[in-house]
Amino acid sequence: MYPTSDRPGWRDNFPFWTVHAVAIVGAIIVGWSWAALGWLVGSYLVRMFAITGGYHRYFAHRTYKTGRVFQLILALLAMSSAQQGVLWWAAHHRNHHKFSDEPEDTHSPVQRGFWWSHFLWILAPRNRATDLEKIKDFAKYPELRWLDRHDLLIAVAWGFVIYFIGGSTALFYGHFLSIVVAWHITFCINSLAHVWGGRRYATNDESRNNAVLAVLTLGEGWHNNHHHYQRSARQGFYWWEIDVTFYVLKVLEKLRIVSDVQGVPRHVRDDDVSNERARLTAAVAAPPS
Ligand SMILES: [Zn+2]
Ligand SMILES: [Zn+2]
Repeated sequence: MYPTSDRPGWRDNFPFWTVHAVAIVGAIIVGWSWAALGWLVGSYLVRMFAITGGYHRYFAHRTYKTGRVFQLILALLAMSSAQQGVLWWAAHHRNHHKFSDEPEDTHSPVQRGFWWSHFLWILAPRNRATDLEKIKDFAKYPELRWLDRHDLLIAVAWGFVIYFIGGSTALFYGHFLSIVVAWHITFCINSLAHVWGGRRYATNDESRNNAVLAVLTLGEGWHNNHHHYQRSARQGFYWWEIDVTFYVLKVLEKLRIVSDVQGVPRHVRDDDVSNERARLTAAVAAPPS
């Protein structure tokens, strides 16, 4: 049983499960069509890019640079996915890297179990606030602080915009169902990507590389790579490690919308598990005198 500060109350649970119910019931009532599929996939792709390329690789890790207008656009697009505010998301994620799979980690499946890491941590009262100290570099922008305080308003406003563009099909498939699908696939990086997959690098956590998650999340499934070297905007370190977010960032760089897109240095990339083993073997063979 979780301590009181970790137990979600009725008020915290209600919007979360209501969105699930509205998405499923609404999608059934509106019915399946090619337009519905287009809204679902199109909206999912835009939102997932904004989460991975915006919330994660830009706001949490600063792996590339961009101007104040495009950072605002990224934040607005990402907030359409109802994953709370831009500063909240990035600050909590920085905490995850600081304490990866240690007791202080916000959402470690190793420490607190799978469902805690998947979504229960988000509903816990103790994780509701944004710790601006952890995200001072972006908290200095008043527009981002305003967005962060009005996350629900932004998500609801997005619902209206999508409804006025495409009607009920767009609302239920392009907004509600897309939110639920994007939630659980994003959550999988906190839960499954610390449990299921290979470990190329001997990082101090349980992060994994997982091709299935990488395809679904536009590149975030190379999570062990990412824990090994967080400064890279590229999480698929080799050409066969599909990382759609990185490809989009490279296009945006060509268009001069973003700049300084960080790659992974070769010596960091090649510092894999076999090298780690070789070093350990050498250390055992020749202990320091
Ligand atoms: Zn990260
Ligand atoms: Zn992680």
